[in-house]
Amino acid sequence: MKVRTRFAPSPTGFLHIGGLRTALYAYLYAKGKGGDFILRLEDTDQTRYVDGAVELIYSTLRETGLNWDEGPDVGGKFGPYIQSERKSLYMDYAVELVEKGGAYYCFCTKDRLETLLDENGQRKYDKHCLSLSKEEVAKRIASGEQYVIRQNIPKTGECAYTDLVFGEVSFDFKDMEDNILMKSDGMPTYNFANVVDDHLMEITHVMRGTEYLSSTPKYNLMYDNFGWERPQYIHMPPIMKNSKEKLSKRHGDASYADFINSGYIKETVINYIALLGWSPKSDQEKLTFEELKNLFSVEGISKHPAIFDEKKMKWLNGEYFKAMTEQEFFTHAKPIIEKSAVAGMFDDEYLSKLMKTRVELLTQIAEKLDPLAEYGDWDLEILTHKKMKTDTEIAKAILPEILNVMKDIEWTEEKVHDTLLALVEKLELKNSQVLWCFRIAITGLANTPGGATEMAKIFGKDTCISRIEKTIARLA
Ligand code: GLU
Repeated sequence: MKVRTRFAPSPTGFLHIGGLRTALYAYLYAKGKGGDFILRLEDTDQTRYVDGAVELIYSTLRETGLNWDEGPDVGGKFGPYIQSERKSLYMDYAVELVEKGGAYYCFCTKDRLETLLDENGQRKYDKHCLSLSKEEVAKRIASGEQYVIRQNIPKTGECAYTDLVFGEVSFDFKDMEDNILMKSDGMPTYNFANVVDDHLMEITHVMRGTEYLSSTPKYNLMYDNFGWERPQYIHMPPIMKNSKEKLSKRHGDASYADFINSGYIKETVINYIALLGWSPKSDQEKLTFEELKNLFSVEGISKHPAIFDEKKMKWLNGEYFKAMTEQEFFTHAKPIIEKSAVAGMFDDEYLSKLMKTRVELLTQIAEKLDPLAEYGDWDLEILTHKKMKTDTEIAKAILPEILNVMKDIEWTEEKVHDTLLALVEKLELKNSQVLWCFRIAITGLANTPGGATEMAKIFGKDTCISRIEKTIARLA
């Protein structure tokens, strides 16, 4: 049988990385088995619908290469793939389930439901309407009374099933409620629609978060009532912010767009989230999309919560930068440099080359380069540095010497470097003393995004010479 997995997001906001990981695993699993990956939009809860959320799902999945074989926009033989467009078919299945004893009509009012509290003070439906006769139900429906359809869950007993990650799991029916399957507006709830759709769309492997581990028995009960084959289940561990808190979209943590905006590239996001709850057999951490497709397996999915480690994700992003060619990195860096404070001031390709090994996030490019845009009356005290064995007096003595030897040289990095070192030797100074004084004089900054010769190359000869002269004059 061909493997068919699905990603079934609810368009309720941005695409949280937990959701993206679900999509990724479902995609990788299907592709690794030569199967199909399906996108289905679960929008039956219209009150939670957020404008633009659907477009964001499409664009994020496309951008990250998680292309679906069937889905709302591309179609497929099991469509429509948007639940609200499938509204008419759920009622027939709900009626069938009622006939098979797996569900019943419920006419209880909101006021009555408010009065129902179980022994733990939790509101739990008491199966009141289960005892209504078929005739009475028909009469009340015919008279236009509002109703819902609830699942009929046994009061006792347990339901066990095998999850491909968690193994054999079992839950007591007594802890479950007769949830609503069809709402009074004729829309199915998630609890019903997911079962009907997974069956009709011939989904072989249902992959979702562990929060569904304990409700799956209810779904299995429906598959059994209908006489349908249950799918296989693959539940994925939660992603935690730390050992106690879950990374959650409700707290506004970490959507795909947030990561991109904060300077990650999509390759890192995909690579890193693949490792949140899964690991390959080796300890390789930098894995391309192609490698993930080849290596992904259910055996590598962990039962334990994954802790999101931003430091590690940053490191990985930096590794991607290092592995790029200069030209590849420049395509990422260029738009940032063009919007930075140094836009149009220097050789952008050179700046990009300099940043490639020095940043872990694209946003750090502007942070590092922006200070180069200004050269005001900087604090002369930064010339004083104990470890470099410099101070303003030493600078006062060294800078005229530097000026002297630099004036007539050809301005290449190599020449600047060799000239400065020759001066070190001639004056019997330390490398650090000459390089520090030179670098500070030409940049006016204690911290620069590169060494002395690199700064010399960025600013060019004329600027450097005039800045050294200016510093000499200020020290006089
Ligand atoms: N719409 C559900 C969600 O976004 C999907 C869960 C599932 O995969 O069945 O959580």
